[in-house]
Amino acid sequence: MFGLKTDWELDPPPRYFTLEDYEGGVARWCPGCGDFGVLTAVQRICREQQLPPEKVVAVSGIGCSSRFPHYMKTYGFHGLHGRPLPVACGIKSRRPDLDIWVATGDGDCCSIGAGHWIHAIRYNMDMTVMLFDNAVYGLTKNQTSPTSPVGFKSNTHPRGAWLPPLDPLQAMLGFTNVSFVGQAVDWNPILLHAILRQAHAHKGLGFVRILQRCPTYSGHVFQDLQKSPDQLLLLTHDDGLPMTPELDRLFPNKEQHDPSDLGKARIAAANHERIPVGVLFRDPSRPIYDDFTNYGLGTSVEDKLDSINAELDRFAI
Ligand code: SF4
Repeated sequence: MFGLKTDWELDPPPRYFTLEDYEGGVARWCPGCGDFGVLTAVQRICREQQLPPEKVVAVSGIGCSSRFPHYMKTYGFHGLHGRPLPVACGIKSRRPDLDIWVATGDGDCCSIGAGHWIHAIRYNMDMTVMLFDNAVYGLTKNQTSPTSPVGFKSNTHPRGAWLPPLDPLQAMLGFTNVSFVGQAVDWNPILLHAILRQAHAHKGLGFVRILQRCPTYSGHVFQDLQKSPDQLLLLTHDDGLPMTPELDRLFPNKEQHDPSDLGKARIAAANHERIPVGVLFRDPSRPIYDDFTNYGLGTSVEDKLDSINAELDRFAI
């Protein structure tokens, strides 16, 4: 019921959002694809935080995971290959009130979009970026990606990939002004949800690499990790990913890791014997570009015209 305030004003009732308020079109990923779990985690976080759907924007590039905006009942921008980050930065610069989630794949982010990736990290604008890393180009049906392991057979390398894979975590931890780096796996919903929640709460660019199953083209890449959780190392800390009874039960190997220590984060990222999951690095004191782009956003049209005229008058002769 709407309460009547005056003859012309309505007092709208408080809104409560359910999961359905964030659920867009029926997701058309292959059965068993890891993207489903990420979508569910994001929708759950939106509901927990009671984010008004009209204040949320999902932004993506091109790839299987980049269909993400279609499956959110929010605003969305399905952009060009490798370009989700400049689009997201542009949106944030004009509409700092919006909550931005970026979905990008290993080909989208680490290959054609690598230049934008470096600079978006340096800009450190307040948004959550999810790297869906399935180690293959899935949408275009099985080509070697920058993160495909050596020996990975694909249409472009039928005898196996030649080069060592790019490590997104180690790369990230070398970029100027990086402020949040986490790693999760799609097949552990408790871990995935907990890390994405931390990234979303972070003031600045919260970057999470998600090891993502692609049963159609690269199912074998993460098979061992799925079967043997002892190959994962859970990094916990009160200032990073806090330990919970569920996480304690799910991970046989865990370690206290202070995410404010960049040197230790780099050491953790380089550990390929036990794959680190959790929050590797977090520094909320790093400068955010939002503080620069927000400047003058509330200026009235009259004041803008006065400024332009004053500037033009400088050239009057
Ligand atoms: Fe998912 Fe792979 Fe299918 Fe793409 S090709 S939808 S990544 S399982």
